[in-house]
Amino acid sequence: MDALVDRFGRHITYLRVSITDRCNHRCSYCAPFVQRERKDILSFAEIARIVKTMSDMGVKKVRLTGGEPLVRKGIETLVAMLKEAGASDLAMTTNGTLLERHAKTLKKAGLDRVNISIDTLNAERFRIISGGGELAPALRAVDAAIEAGLTPVKLNTVLMRINEDEIASIMDFVETKSITARFIECMPMNADFDWKKNYVPIEEILKRDDVRERVVLDSSPRRDSSAAYTLALKSGKGTVGFVSPISSRFCSTCNRMRLTSEGRLRTCLPVELSVDLKEAIRGGAGEEELKNLVLKAALLKPEKGDYSGENSMIKIGG
Ligand code: SAM
Repeated sequence: MDALVDRFGRHITYLRVSITDRCNHRCSYCAPFVQRERKDILSFAEIARIVKTMSDMGVKKVRLTGGEPLVRKGIETLVAMLKEAGASDLAMTTNGTLLERHAKTLKKAGLDRVNISIDTLNAERFRIISGGGELAPALRAVDAAIEAGLTPVKLNTVLMRINEDEIASIMDFVETKSITARFIECMPMNADFDWKKNYVPIEEILKRDDVRERVVLDSSPRRDSSAAYTLALKSGKGTVGFVSPISSRFCSTCNRMRLTSEGRLRTCLPVELSVDLKEAIRGGAGEEELKNLVLKAALLKPEKGDYSGENSMIKIGG
């Protein structure tokens, strides 16, 4: 097997795939919305081909994201194609709005698990943060995902000044459902969003009494494979994870690359170092050529990320 190892000895085993740049939310901290033409977006067959090639090179974990992955028509077909292509651990990050009606069929098609993005449990606040979205369908999505067996179900909550007062209630929520909450530091991804004003470092949260009294504080902090520092809740039901891309980088153990909706294989979330796979595929690249391009991308992967440039989560896939 042609293993995918970068210049710093990191094995690339995880691919995040943005399958669309369209989204039915307009989250304040995310990307300014730019919709690309359909022809510029990778087809299902193109995505499956790349996943197959990368899976032959050792990538087994694949996460579908976007944009909102569930707005792409025929998503179950894509899921089945990717499972067949070798994505043995197939996950999705979704805002949940459309998940209730798809949960069972996605599971049947081969989706293993989901992360559902919910930044607040307050309906009015939810509308503000998501740019007009509704909380109720996202909450129903959590139950639908659990019922369909898309487990483990994780809640993704971007931590900001506007929702830092909800950490305890989000912990209550995941406790009642025996699922996982993941609090993620807000990254500077949208120039129109006052990031500095909203940024809350995870270490500040970990010092708070209302957090410390709820979790089993581990004497030897460990990160799970998703880079979250995960702690059990004292009740024994549910867990909480903390992801700190800004205050405590996890670059040295980074095992991921990202495929953008336009077919660029990107080596690092905040750094624009990528290789155009769409052009190669549409130009008739054979398997060897495609593998070499994937390897070339891996070798471009920087040692560390840098959040000073401008990015777009929708295009890159968060
Ligand atoms: N639409 C889907 C969703 O809402 O989950 C998938 C795409 S979204 C870009 C993926 C994840 O990135 C979401 O959990 C979202 O909250 C997170 N995200 C977007 N912008 C972010 C930022 N500036 N900082 C931290 N997380 C961000």
